Amino acid sequence: MSYSGFRLIKEALRGHSGWKPAWRNPEPQPGYDFVIVGGGGHGLATAHYLAKVYRKSRIAVLEKGWIGGGNVGRNTTIIRSNYLLPGNEPFYELSLQLWEGLEQDLNYNAMVSQRGVMNLFHSDAQRDAARRRGNGMILHGSDAELLDTDGVRSEAPFLNFNNARFPIKGALMHRRGGTVRHDAVAWGYARSADRHGVDIIQNCEVTGFRIENNRVLGVETSRGYIGAGKIGVAVAGSSGRVMSQAGMRLPIESHVLQAFVSEGLKPVLPGVITFGAGHFYVSQSDKGGLVFGGDIDGYNTYAQRGNLPVVEDVCEGGMALMPMIGRTRLLRMWGGVMDMSMDGSPIIDRTQIDGLYFNGGWCYGGFKATPASGRVFAHLLATDTPHETATAYRFDRFEKGLMIDEKGVGAQPNLH
Ligand SMILES: Cc1cc2nc3c(=O)[nH]c(=O)nc-3n(C[C@H](O)[C@H](O)[C@H](O)COP(=O)(O)OP(=O)(O)OC[C@H]3O[C@@H](n4cnc5c(N)ncnc54)[C@H](O)[C@@H]3O)c2cc1C
Repeated sequence: MSYSGFRLIKEALRGHSGWKPAWRNPEPQPGYDFVIVGGGGHGLATAHYLAKVYRKSRIAVLEKGWIGGGNVGRNTTIIRSNYLLPGNEPFYELSLQLWEGLEQDLNYNAMVSQRGVMNLFHSDAQRDAARRRGNGMILHGSDAELLDTDGVRSEAPFLNFNNARFPIKGALMHRRGGTVRHDAVAWGYARSADRHGVDIIQNCEVTGFRIENNRVLGVETSRGYIGAGKIGVAVAGSSGRVMSQAGMRLPIESHVLQAFVSEGLKPVLPGVITFGAGHFYVSQSDKGGLVFGGDIDGYNTYAQRGNLPVVEDVCEGGMALMPMIGRTRLLRMWGGVMDMSMDGSPIIDRTQIDGLYFNGGWCYGGFKATPASGRVFAHLLATDTPHETATAYRFDRFEKGLMIDEKGVGAQPNLH
């Protein structure tokens, strides 16, 4: 069933009795050509592109919980293509271009809203760094604009300009960045993959890999053994745990990251704003809530809930930047488990086990990457060669010293 304005009117006239479930609920088959482990944004996008772009069939996505229950439904919804390094920016630019056509591709309203991302700076050195980043972005086909203080004031007059501990000197404005309704992305990819014949199997936890003569043959799951020609693992925060079942130890640590939503307010924020003198970022959802977040809690965990010191830290950042936030009430907060890689960049690569492929290490930037991650992982699974925008996301970059350290802070997950 295609979604359209015409369909909406038709259903409205007949009491909405004709809508069908957005995807089927199939029983697992004994075997598939491709098994994707993890039904988050990346796993579902991989299945969608494998079927639609690479014309592969006999594909299953195995999800231990329900679609949208992981980080894809827990993030702060920001998308952007404002990276600096050559290993990163072409990939994130591909992702933003895929976001721009996503709703037509999926026939699904994911509420892609290019309302702009404004990275504030507070010193001359930060201005130099922003100018350099902006030039890098433009050279890779993205958009960037350097705003001075008055330029920022005209976008966001409510920021603390006059009495601030960290005066705002300007911002790097990226107008094509913005927000997307996160769980709609999971639902849209799931529906489209299902329409292309992919089996999406929920409540199916992968508990082990069957490996013989260094070749993976299938997965043990809570719903029985499932054979597979190729297996792609995209389990985000559970990367270390799942890959240890194949005997691998990853250069990844799991940490919790929290997010916060205020009560609904009238429209006040024009787009996404990030504080340059602390870790705080904020946008406003279409329902009116201010959606904001900051740093990871800073200790290894698989718990999807955080602790109060980071709440205090994030709120301090908010108050320093826009004191009016102190008058609004916090409605909800939650946590998600981040797969923090040692250089802050992802890994999309084959493993040393034949037929086993890995996608992870997204830190807290994996939502914006969802379309490109799915596209390039599908490319790798279908062709056994890395996609041209993802050649740097190799496992062996740590061994060879070819890290993609976007922030230049070394192997320190809490700083990426
Ligand atoms: C609070 C917060 C804010 C964030 N903000 C942003 C942001 O603004 N912009 C941005 O770009 N990124 C952001 N991120 C990061 C982004 O959400 C993640 O990097 C990205 O969603 C991870 O990919 P995914 O969607 O595939 O993960 P998930 O949705 O977590 O998918 C992984 C799936 O694997 C499943 N799984 C795990 N183990 C198994 C198993 N053994 N068998 C079967 N299935 C299994 C899980 O149940 C889960 O559904 C944020 C994250 C958090 C938590």
